[in-house]
Amino acid sequence: MTGNGLPFRQQQLEEIAERYPTPFHIYDERAIRENAVRLKEAFAWNEGFKEYFAVKATPNPYIMKLLQAEGFGSDCSSMAELLLSETVGITGENIMFTSNDTPAEEFQKACALGAIINLDDITHFDFLEKNVGIPELACFRYNPGPLREGNTIIGHPEEAKYGFTKNQLAEGYAAAKAQGINRFGIHTMVASNELNAQYFIDTAEMLFSLVAEFSRDPGVRFEFVNIGGGIGIPYKPEDNAVDLDFVSNGIHELYSSMIEANGLAPLRILMECGRMITGPYGFLVSRVRHIKNTYKKFVGLDACMADLMRPALYGAYHHITVMGKEEEPAAGIYDVTGSLCENNDKFAIDRELPEIEPGDLLVIHDAGAHGHAMGFNYNGKLRSAELLMRPDGEIVEIRRAETTRDLFATLDLDGLTAFQV
Ligand SMILES: *Cc1c(COP(=O)(O)O)cnc(C)c1O
Repeated sequence: MTGNGLPFRQQQLEEIAERYPTPFHIYDERAIRENAVRLKEAFAWNEGFKEYFAVKATPNPYIMKLLQAEGFGSDCSSMAELLLSETVGITGENIMFTSNDTPAEEFQKACALGAIINLDDITHFDFLEKNVGIPELACFRYNPGPLREGNTIIGHPEEAKYGFTKNQLAEGYAAAKAQGINRFGIHTMVASNELNAQYFIDTAEMLFSLVAEFSRDPGVRFEFVNIGGGIGIPYKPEDNAVDLDFVSNGIHELYSSMIEANGLAPLRILMECGRMITGPYGFLVSRVRHIKNTYKKFVGLDACMADLMRPALYGAYHHITVMGKEEEPAAGIYDVTGSLCENNDKFAIDRELPEIEPGDLLVIHDAGAHGHAMGFNYNGKLRSAELLMRPDGEIVEIRRAETTRDLFATLDLDGLTAFQV
């Protein structure tokens, strides 16, 4: 790491950009793996602790393979994510399938892979039985409704389409037990990009008390609680990362008093974070095409919101470094834009930055999760390449950039010639 949190300096990045034209996303393998180790170590007290990486955050099999090597599983929510996991060799109970409004073929695929199937609704139990059969393990997603606050990205739980009510959980576990199922888990996901560490301790407490309750009646024995993902990252310079040791210690205390003391141990703690695993360790690199002065100063990049739509979608802050000008004072207030014909195609609005010129390389930070993954092709924009910087500095292209051929591949252009109007 250099002083500004980047794994490369200007010269090195210019050399990379000579081989791989901008824009591109680049991930820092060393930092991703060190972070994975920190998470595992924080929860080492819990035998069977496991993180299932939320594939939707960075659905690239090379990244998934790195995380597999660290002992992580996959949290999948679609056919494509299941297929990617299978390709990487992540199968069996190393997959948690947490979907909603699920088609039968996705349940069938998840089941064929031996995944843990986490049901989103009580009616899915019958749907599963009809289309796949009775699962070996019953895991249900809990939605606490008005009992929890939620946060701005995910909203109020009672407005959320996900999960079972508490009464439905009781009914579901009783029904599963009556069917002869004897392996049980419980899941929830009530926050997104949450920086308050206490929130995750409260979530564990909520699940532990449900475990205690359903262990008494209908009398099922839980193997695990999955506390979901949603751990936030410090996008703004003044934000602080969630203290994983604080979260872990808080959960450990509750585990002693609520689980061990009641004879409910062992109980595995599972997690399915995406953002905090890769988010801070991926960067969108783009070159300045034009500087435009009208009513405001605009920087025109060769990247656009198709490469990173969080600012346009949520008004999210992403820190920006102008390479080689890290030490220069702010010299202007800029809107940093792309070339898409939508006025919200801006990576930053009224941002103080050093004097920017055409040709400068800009690095947009914290793009490693929900970045490239949210890309789209509106306005004929092509998705960029993804690169991986290995610990020895070697660069591997882990996804090439799209071409117009890719974009038009779904059109039948021969049919067009024959098409008479
Ligand atoms: C999106 C999602 C995650 C990952 O969320 P992060 O904010 O990236 O940690 C985990 N679980 C479910 C069910 C999700 O939908």
